[in-house]
Order: sequence, then C-alpha cells, then structure tokens
Amino acid sequence: MPKVSLINLGCAKNEVDSEEMLGLLSEGGYDIEHSHDPGSVSDHTDVVVINTCGFIDAAKEESVNTILEALARKSRGEIKKVIVAGCLAQRYSKELAVEMPDVDAFLGTGMVSSISDLVGQALIRPEQMLQIAEKPHHRWVDKPTRARIGSPWTAYLKISEGCDHACTFCAIPSFRGGHVSKPIEKIIEEAELLASQGVRELNLIAQDSTQYGYDLYGKMKLPELLTQLSKVELLRWIRLFYCYPSRVNRGIIEAIANTPKVCHYIDMPLQHADNEMLRAMRRPMTYDGYIKLLSDFRAAVPDVSIRTTFIVGFPGETKEHFATLERFVDEAQFDRVGVFEYSVEEGTPSGEMEPKVPSRIKRARKDSLMKRQQPISLARNKRWEGKELEVLIEGRSSLDPTTAIGRSFRDALEIDGQITVKKCTAQPGTFVLTKVVEARPYDLVAEYIGISKI
Ligand code: SF4
Repeated sequence: MPKVSLINLGCAKNEVDSEEMLGLLSEGGYDIEHSHDPGSVSDHTDVVVINTCGFIDAAKEESVNTILEALARKSRGEIKKVIVAGCLAQRYSKELAVEMPDVDAFLGTGMVSSISDLVGQALIRPEQMLQIAEKPHHRWVDKPTRARIGSPWTAYLKISEGCDHACTFCAIPSFRGGHVSKPIEKIIEEAELLASQGVRELNLIAQDSTQYGYDLYGKMKLPELLTQLSKVELLRWIRLFYCYPSRVNRGIIEAIANTPKVCHYIDMPLQHADNEMLRAMRRPMTYDGYIKLLSDFRAAVPDVSIRTTFIVGFPGETKEHFATLERFVDEAQFDRVGVFEYSVEEGTPSGEMEPKVPSRIKRARKDSLMKRQQPISLARNKRWEGKELEVLIEGRSSLDPTTAIGRSFRDALEIDGQITVKKCTAQPGTFVLTKVVEARPYDLVAEYIGISKI
C-alpha cells in the first residue's frame, strides 16, 4: 500500500480540499498521513502532496519554502515523489515547472477529484505532469469523502467555489474561477457524513456565500440551504462566513434570525467605508448603505455578533478617506474587526493604480484602526457580563487543569476570541452552560454551570 503524506497550507478552503484529497486517497487504497511540514513526513513515504496557498506574498513564500524542503528530502532518497496542488500550482505552474524540475506533478484548483489518479500516475511515470485547467472550473467530488485533519467536533464545509465579482484588489477569481455552487443534496450528504464523524459545529465557507445557488437554480438559495442543514441531526451550530454585503438581503437576515442551529453570527468583509475608496475597489455599497444594513441586522437579530475586515492603504487612500473609515468604525460598533494592509496582487487593476501608500503609513493606519476598535470590542463583550452563554469546550488551560477553554456562538474558529471557563473539567467537544463573569477586549471569562441541555 503506497504511503501518501499531505501537507496543508493556507485558508479554510484549502483545509476542506486537503481533507477531500486525503479521503479520496484513502478510498483509492493509499496509506494516508497528514503532516504539518516536510520535516515531519515519515521516512520512506512514497508521495508528498503539498496543498499550497498563492494569495499574498508571505503565503507564497511559505509554500515555495515547503516545496523546496520536500524536494531536499526527495534528493536524499527519503521520499519518492512530490506533488504540488492548490492555488500556487494554479497560478504559477508554468514558472514553477521550469524552476523546480524535480516536482513530479502539479494539480490545479478545482481538480481535487483527480488526486488519486494523479498520485497513481506519478508513481509510475518519470516525466513531470501538469494537470492545470487554463480557466479553472470547480468539479465537486461524486460522493462526500473527508479524512479529517481539524478538531473532530468542528468542520468547514464549502458550499461554493470561485467568485463572480471583480473587486479591483483581488486575484482570486483568476485562479479559483467563477462562482460554482455545490448542489444542495451534496451539501446535505456531506453535512450528514461530517455529523456522523462527530462534527457538531459546521462552518459554511465560500468566496461569496450569499450568491449560493444562483448558478444552479437561477436564484439565491442560502436561506433554503440553512433550513435544510438545520434538519441534520446531531449538528448543534451552523455558522456562516464570507457574506458579500450588497447581497445580504431580508431573506438572509431572517434566515439567520429564525433558523434553528444557525448561529447569530455573521462574517461580512466590508473592506472600506469611504465611498470613493469603495468605488475604486469596485465594491457596490456606500457608507450609508452599510449603516442601514447593520441596523436592519441588529433590529432583526438583536444579539448578532458581526465580524468584518478592512483593507487600509489601498492606492489613493488619503488621510481624509482613512478618517472616514475611522468614523465608520466608531459608528458601526462591530463585535470583531480584522485589518489588512493593502498589498499588490499580480494582474489586478489596483496594481496599476496610483498613488501607492507607503508601507509605514499602511502599518500606522492598521495599528491605529485596531487600537480604535479595541474599546468597542470590549464594550460589546461587556454586554454579556452576568448573562448565561453556551460554550463549546475545546481544550484546557495549561496553567490550571480545572479551567477549560472554549467558544460561544459569538466566536468563530481560529479568528475570534475565546472563553475561559472556570471550574470546568468537561471534555473537548462538549457543550456546557456558563455564566459570564468578566469581559476583556477579545475574550470572556465565565463560570461553569453544567452540561448544556439546549
Ligand atoms: S474580494 Fe472576495 S468578493 Fe471580491 S473578487 Fe475577491 S473573492 Fe470575490
């Protein structure tokens, strides 16, 4: 049984692709292993698959270094073949094929379902292979198959792939292709499989989850999808990511408000709030439109937790534009905010835009916006002091074994805060009821009440 080790890099979407590839390889009769880096790949592994990220410079560098490390082990005879999959392969396979002739195969995005065949071919063919579609178009695997690499109780589920928007700073559509929805029945089947494997929290991801269904059914179907998913037994939380603001309509707001198991949580990247900047970014909303959307949301879902992200230092961003963003952050009162410094992505329209904002100004604006948000996050957290909150336990404090660490419906996996639960010895994966005793800017402290029976 040939041994295949997979190294996953990049975002949650890559994690899903990696779990699918591992599942397909296992079904294909391979002995599978998940490794964090080439150094931890077992000796005498037949094939190493690296699922790369090609989004920003730091991620590209990490991907290239990982490939080089794996090739070094190959040259020492410790592994036989190296396959490069994912976004970096899709974006730069032609250049990489020349610069790294020892890579045995490249697999583009949208081609996860071919991994078993490709590994089989790589094991017998000496020449380098490229399985890259010029215009990537995602093909879903026939049957759900996920060999999990994340925590058993929580999983990402990709409801669509690609993007039809044309934000001027973003290269994703060029290497992930246009928007392709996964059919509802396939999503339900996958959710049932994950629930049967122990998953209790399902995190729905896409490039734009609000466009779900349009390509397949001629209309947006996110509310219907949420209703159907909420019927999957054993699931406790369903959480929605990557909502495109101009598409968040009444139907979606009501679905979040009223569908059982759907967390009162939304991740909605707004990117900026100044109208001129939004136009330059080719984002169709305005400052006032955002304010109205947030107020509609809070009117329908009073305890909603809203996360957003902004880009600072977009070409042409002046002091005045940035001041508008600061005013917006004060007015909008988000629960969580992420701030990114603009960086040029090859082949994007904003790469040609001038004037560029100097790095030190970008950094200063990022720091200043994060600092500005801190007391707002604290005030939002303080609203929970004295209240009961259901918490999903995920680990234990390293300092005190009677203190557990978890998350509530307000905290998304990996990106939001944590809740420290005192006097709690519940096992990871357990839902417990707690009372919040202290709010901090990012985290909460709570006391254990008992196992949750909700
Ligand atoms: S930023 Fe998001 S919505 Fe805009 S083009 Fe990129 S993936 Fe699509």
